[in-house]
Amino acid sequence: MFDKIGASVTSLSMGVILIVLGLIIPVIGPILIFVGVISLFSSIIGPFLGIKPLRLPCPYCGTEIAVMNSKKGINCKACKQRVVIKDNEFIKINS
Ligand SMILES: [Zn+2]
Repeated sequence: MFDKIGASVTSLSMGVILIVLGLIIPVIGPILIFVGVISLFSSIIGPFLGIKPLRLPCPYCGTEIAVMNSKKGINCKACKQRVVIKDNEFIKINS
């Protein structure tokens, strides 16, 4: 998670630098601004792309659980059983 934030900040500052350079250097400016905007955009959107919330029923008790798919598992809030997240699906830990 910290790695993602670090990469995002690097990408963000790189985007700003490219845009500033693009404003200073008129000949290749539009290219730099274009690349800078892409870099800025991806740094803002990127972290959200890999993290999608899942809403699936607990395999033990059927209670709907909301969890980020970046997690490997979660304990069901209703029955306290350990639920493993695999391929965007909830499975029982002993199955
Ligand atoms: Zn449950």
